[in-house]
Amino acid sequence: MRSIKEIFVIGYGPSSSHTMGPANACEYILKEYKDIKSITVTLFGSLALTGKGHLTDYIIDLKFKDIKHKVLFDSKTETKHPNTMEFEVTTDEGTYKETIVSIGGGTIVTKHNYDEIGKEVYPHRSLKEILAFCDKNNLSLKDYVKKYEEADIYQYLKACKDQIISAIDSGLAKEGTLPGPLKVQRKAKEMMANLQNDDPAEIMAISAFAVAEENASGNIIVIAPTCGSAGVFGGILGYFRKKGYSEDAIIDSLMVAGLIGILAKTNACVSGAEAGCQAEIGVACAMGAAAIANIKGLNNEHIARAAEIALEHSLGLTCDPVQGYVQIPCIERCAVYALKAKNAAKLATLIPSSGNKIGFDESLKTMYETGKDLSSGYRETGKKGLGEIFK
Ligand code: SF4
Repeated sequence: MRSIKEIFVIGYGPSSSHTMGPANACEYILKEYKDIKSITVTLFGSLALTGKGHLTDYIIDLKFKDIKHKVLFDSKTETKHPNTMEFEVTTDEGTYKETIVSIGGGTIVTKHNYDEIGKEVYPHRSLKEILAFCDKNNLSLKDYVKKYEEADIYQYLKACKDQIISAIDSGLAKEGTLPGPLKVQRKAKEMMANLQNDDPAEIMAISAFAVAEENASGNIIVIAPTCGSAGVFGGILGYFRKKGYSEDAIIDSLMVAGLIGILAKTNACVSGAEAGCQAEIGVACAMGAAAIANIKGLNNEHIARAAEIALEHSLGLTCDPVQGYVQIPCIERCAVYALKAKNAAKLATLIPSSGNKIGFDESLKTMYETGKDLSSGYRETGKKGLGEIFK
C-alpha cells in the first residue's frame, strides 16, 4: 500500500477528482512535452457531465493560460474509467495523444505510472492482516503507521491539521452566496452565531459546514480523502479543538484515519464517479470514526470496529450533486457524516465484540461491489437522485 500522504493533501476545492486531478494532469503535460503549440483536452464521462460545476474547465484554462488550447466535453463516448481525459498536444515535432485518468483524491494515472501508481510503503493490504501483525508485535495502529511512513509524516500531518483549522476559521468568518447558479447561501457563520450552548457535537456539525463551504468556493482545504468529503474532517477537527485534545493526540489520530483511507483507496476506490458518495463521504466517515476512536484511547479492535460500523452504514450512498456543483447535498452531508462518525466510535464500545461477523475489509469490498452496481446516474453525473429532481 502507498503512503497515507495520498489521503490527506492540501489543495484547492471543489473536487479532488474533477479539479485537482485535472490540474495535476495539466502539470504533467507541461512537464512531459516541450515547445507546445496547442492543446485540445477532451473530457469524458463524469468529467464531461459535471465538469462545469466542478470547475474542471476553469482549472484547465488556468493551467494552460499561456498556451493556445480548447476544452471539449464528450459525454457520449464510453470510456473504461468515468474520469477520463484525452490530451492532444501539438509541438514542433508533431501531434501526440495521451489519455490520463483521475482516480480520486487528486491522484492521476498516466502511461508512466499505469502499472504502479506510487511507491509502496506498507507490506500489508488488508486491515485484518494489519491487525494480526500489530497483535503479534504489540503495536497500536498509530505505531504501525509510524513504523512504515517516512520520518516527516508528523510534520506533514501537522501542516494538514493546521490547514483544516484555518479552513474552519475562514469558513466561519464568511457570509454570502456560494459560486454558481444555485445561489446557495453560506450558513456556517449564522449557525455559529445562533448556537445556544457549547455542545462539541454542534461545533462539529458547524465546522463541517464551514470547511465544506470553503471547498465549494474553490478555496484551500485538505482533501480527506476527497474535496467533496473534506467537510467531514472539518467537523472532526472542530470537535477535537473544542474538546481540547493535544496536537500530538490529533496527529496520531490523523495517522490512524489515513490508514483507513489508504486501505479504501487500495482495495476499493475513493471516487464518487466510480462508486458513488459511499466512496467519498462514506470512506471519510470511516476515517473519522477511526480517528475519534483513537483519540478516545480505544484499542485496535475497537478502532477497526468503529471504522467498519461507519462504512457499513454508509453503503449505498449515491452521488447526485445538483447541477454538478459540490454544494447540494455535499455540504450538509459532510456534517451528517461527521456526526455519524462520532456515533460509530461510540457504538464500537457498546456492542460486545464476541460474534462480530463483518469486518472492515468485508464492508470495503461490499462498498466497491455496490458502487459498481449503482447506475451511472448515481455516480457523479448529476443525472439521477437530487440532481434529477431539483433542476
Ligand atoms: S454527493 Fe458526495 S461524492 Fe458526489 S460530489 Fe457530493 S460529496 Fe462528492
